[in-house]
Amino acid sequence: QSESELKSTATTCPYCGVGCGVLVTPSEDGQTAQVKGDPDHPSNFGKLCSKGSALGETLTHEERLLDPVVYGQKSDWNSALDLVAGRFLQTIAEHGPDSVAFYVSGQCLTEDYYIANKMMKGFIGSANIDTNSRLCMASSVAGHKRAFGADTVPGCYEDLDHTDLVILVGSNFAWCHPVLHQRLLVAKEQRGTRIVTIDPRQTATSDAADLHLPIKPGADVALFNALFVHLSNSTAFDKSYVDAYTDGLEEALKVASELSLEEVAVETGLSIEQLVTFFDLVTQTEKTMTIYSQGVNQSSTGTDKVNAIINGHLATGRIGRAGMGPFSITGQPNAMGGREVGGLANQLACHMDFDAGSLDKVQRFWDAPNLAQGPGLKAVDMFDAIGNGKIKALWVMATNPAVSMPNADKVRRAIENCPFVVVSDIVETSDTVKLAHVKLPATGWGEKSGTVTNSERRISRQRSFLKPAGNARHDWDIMCDIARRMGFEGFAFDNPSDIFKEYAQMSAFENNGTRDFDIGHFDEITTNQYDDLTPFQWPLAKNETQARAKRFFENGNFYTANKRAKFVSTPVKAPASKPNAEFEFVLNTGRIRDHWHTMTRTGKTQRLSTHIAEPFVEINSRDALKLGLVDSDIAIVKSKWGSAHLRVLVTDRLADGSAFAPMHWTRRYASKGCVDAITSSNFDKVSGQPEMKYTPVSIEKF
Ligand code: SF4
Repeated sequence: QSESELKSTATTCPYCGVGCGVLVTPSEDGQTAQVKGDPDHPSNFGKLCSKGSALGETLTHEERLLDPVVYGQKSDWNSALDLVAGRFLQTIAEHGPDSVAFYVSGQCLTEDYYIANKMMKGFIGSANIDTNSRLCMASSVAGHKRAFGADTVPGCYEDLDHTDLVILVGSNFAWCHPVLHQRLLVAKEQRGTRIVTIDPRQTATSDAADLHLPIKPGADVALFNALFVHLSNSTAFDKSYVDAYTDGLEEALKVASELSLEEVAVETGLSIEQLVTFFDLVTQTEKTMTIYSQGVNQSSTGTDKVNAIINGHLATGRIGRAGMGPFSITGQPNAMGGREVGGLANQLACHMDFDAGSLDKVQRFWDAPNLAQGPGLKAVDMFDAIGNGKIKALWVMATNPAVSMPNADKVRRAIENCPFVVVSDIVETSDTVKLAHVKLPATGWGEKSGTVTNSERRISRQRSFLKPAGNARHDWDIMCDIARRMGFEGFAFDNPSDIFKEYAQMSAFENNGTRDFDIGHFDEITTNQYDDLTPFQWPLAKNETQARAKRFFENGNFYTANKRAKFVSTPVKAPASKPNAEFEFVLNTGRIRDHWHTMTRTGKTQRLSTHIAEPFVEINSRDALKLGLVDSDIAIVKSKWGSAHLRVLVTDRLADGSAFAPMHWTRRYASKGCVDAITSSNFDKVSGQPEMKYTPVSIEKF
């Protein structure tokens, strides 16, 4: 078969929340593929970044988990699934439904997420299902719900083509969401869009900015409160929008006014001049977007940071119109799809909470025999409960918590000591798979089929173009099989299109079309229609066939009981742990350009390691001198949670007392280089999201 005869498949990139469409032509042996951007996908129009372009080099079966493994011995599906079903049933019978837990992933497809959530919340009877998305965007979810009444992203990527000012907060956009950053640079070139970056570090993103504000770590609430106050006293204040569509301005303004401008300067580490320049720029620019990411979310005050940002947009009515609005950019390919079908421990499916009305609806829709009646444990608390023996059976899917959770060594010990651990994954070598009693081989990107939702609420298909490796099975199929073995009805699915159809039916169930975020249009979708599904943004009304840029809230219509948005009071609070004499530095963590998460996929291609090849800690030259360190030394970085040995990188791109380390390398790659062994497991009390961007550490020469 010649290359031109090999069929190309339209699917989506499995990495970041941009959700780029890709066209893939696999080689005959399925071990490599040609990958190019899909020119027809409305989220990337054919563009890809370095990670997406290298996807074809990551398909090798090297290190793949090809058969079930039970207590270290190769097994067969029947025996493995019987064992898992039996042990979960036995644990529930002896210790109750809350003695078991699922920890899932933004890498799961929406159909996988839907089944995991249905099985745990509807049939096992516990809400102990949480996801690594808790580490990604839980603060944005909570902030949206407090302000808008529902977890709704108001804008879309097209806003980048219409905006005059983009404020990037806590986001190294150029490296973490490269295709969107390229779109922003085109807007800068073509319409003069100005860019402000707010980040304790200078990054590739700030290099392209018109104004960089090197804020002190953790001080975003002080800055955005002051901006909110400034805007509310300026010509940008939109009294008619505030009067017509919002509540709570006065109280929120009172709280936001607690610090004087001089105090804000001290708190943020910015000069009065920098503050005034920034505030004037925002005041004078109606078409302003605030794009934020993990630097905002991963904080003990993450939800307040989100609401402080939203308050300024509500005060100016700059929301829901082309080129303006607050915009949370998700880290993972399907963080949004997961939250839509209830992947978080504190919500039911389809944006429903644990209120009496929703519980009743969900119970009847699923005919659920044992519906969980309240929220379950969020990620940090869940692993604590595993560590203290309250949770006795754990199933981890498509994620690597033994090295990616904050305070990772404690999490690793908890998993090691858990009486029964099941891990479904594509590789046999991840740090968490190695700890499992039962290892279940799952299909990976290119082998599995389903849907994902990207940061702009766009649902796209991920399509298979390869046969499953070895005896791997799809996550949804494995779960349905175990659910049936546990005696649960309602899991007789043969394909992902029927799961998607049930999700669509549930999203429209008894809401009379009143909820924008249903996808009830697809309540009778056939397998062929599902196969042909083109990317669309929700909501998509009945009879609406074209994808369209959809924005929310230009004319109010929020999802609160009185349909009005809420200004939320956001008092300035210190991070949960502050530097002290022992731990003088503040460690910030994040991604690098060419690797993804714990490198289980990107680590397979040498090309992606040529950019940055090993874990490092970045400090400035003054601190290096003080510590007696020079470039390329090895330093021991220690926090009260753990320590890591990291290569020293000396730059002048961060402030005195600050340090930065990438998150990707795990014990597998560098036995003493796991950064999340150090990171803080303090978390936001509203969202449950850990404060991984602010860890007091000591640094010394090895
Ligand atoms: Fe994949 Fe994100 Fe890169 Fe697009 S920008 S190719 S979704 S990693």
